[in-house]
Amino acid sequence: MTNNLFEKAKPILESLQAHDFQAYFVGGSVRDYIMNKSIHDIDITTSATPDEIESVFEKTIPIGREHGTINVVYQGEQYEVTTFRAEGEYIDHRRPNEVYFVRNLFEDVRRRDFTMNAIAMDMEYQIHDYFNGQQDIVDNIIRTVGNPSERFNEDALRIIRGLRFQSQLGFELDPDTFKAMEQHISDISHLSIERIVVELKKLMLGNAIKQTFNNLKQFKTFSYMPFFKYFDLSKVIIEQPIPLTVFIALLKVQQPDITSNISDLKLSNQEKKDINRIIQIIETIPKVQTKRQLKLFVYDYGKKDILEVLSYADTFQENQIATNAPFIINSRAIVEMAQVLPIHSRKEMDINGKDILALVDKPSGPWLKSTLREIECAILTGEVNNFKPELIKWVKTHV
Ligand code: ATP
Ligand code: MG
Repeated sequence: MTNNLFEKAKPILESLQAHDFQAYFVGGSVRDYIMNKSIHDIDITTSATPDEIESVFEKTIPIGREHGTINVVYQGEQYEVTTFRAEGEYIDHRRPNEVYFVRNLFEDVRRRDFTMNAIAMDMEYQIHDYFNGQQDIVDNIIRTVGNPSERFNEDALRIIRGLRFQSQLGFELDPDTFKAMEQHISDISHLSIERIVVELKKLMLGNAIKQTFNNLKQFKTFSYMPFFKYFDLSKVIIEQPIPLTVFIALLKVQQPDITSNISDLKLSNQEKKDINRIIQIIETIPKVQTKRQLKLFVYDYGKKDILEVLSYADTFQENQIATNAPFIINSRAIVEMAQVLPIHSRKEMDINGKDILALVDKPSGPWLKSTLREIECAILTGEVNNFKPELIKWVKTHV
């Protein structure tokens, strides 16, 4: 399909070759190109060492020099250019710290995880495929490069990656690869949670998540991960793609008595905030019984977030979580309500804490917060107009 990105990056391969180095496109972009899918980023592999890469190009960024990766800045884009490398010894089922730079492509691709990810392509779009990756793509098969047991033993993240690709691509796992995954799954407990989470986010959003989630359960994958290991995953059914944040919220709402520290997942503060908000929305939905409550609900959580949670209603229901008061809460009701809200946030109120303090002869305190909330509710329910003179009158009679 689209080879525009390759065309744009071609001069990088040309420059390296002009300096007598070998250079190829490799990894996900080549796989996606062969599959006729759109390509997002391009990885380049080369016989040039990091120093040599830097000497060939004017603008470079040494983002991962110790493992051979230099970013080349070319026409406003950045390209990851990595030296052909083999890996040193694996300790503790993690990626080695030591890497060896090598001078031939074969040595480089044989350390890659799956046959479909070990295909290189040169400037002329000639494919260099040492492990029948193209055939596996045609057959929709995920298969490790070399002996699966050895490859997973070296780096257990490959197990999660394999499952991630299965979920994204809807491919089958080759039976030997599948068996070795099951056999080595406990080794993922040695991995850093950050590396797992990167893959897990993509995995949960894959179109074939139903099948992959069953494999995750069969392998007891979650029992080897921080945070997740305390939950009873046999109670969880996932048949639709769902963001990791929503999945975590689902677990916490479904199994509220489990004590498990979300900080162990090392998510960003924003992600943790999102999860709490999703939990609050799920837990508030059953309490929304009247139009007035619906109004406050839409005001408090916002149309966008509520609609997002509702879009996973089927999944919540399958997991015995009630998100259903169909006559009151449905996407249409939320959208309509959002349109008629007199204000959308406290900032839009025509009165603020300072104004209130000036009106009332009381020192500031927690009462101010609850008064602001009362005024907010009064505006939302139409009891008072959002117009300063009227709000002042309201405060004088109510506070
Ligand atoms: P995506 O399209 O999602 O980026 P990708 O295949 O490009 O998928 P990356 O994580 O970007 O995945 O890795 C780039 C390439 O590096 C892979 O295609 C694979 O060849 C190799 N690779 C990445 N991680 C590993 C690993 N843990 N073990 C062996 N090879 C790996
Ligand atoms: Mg990639």
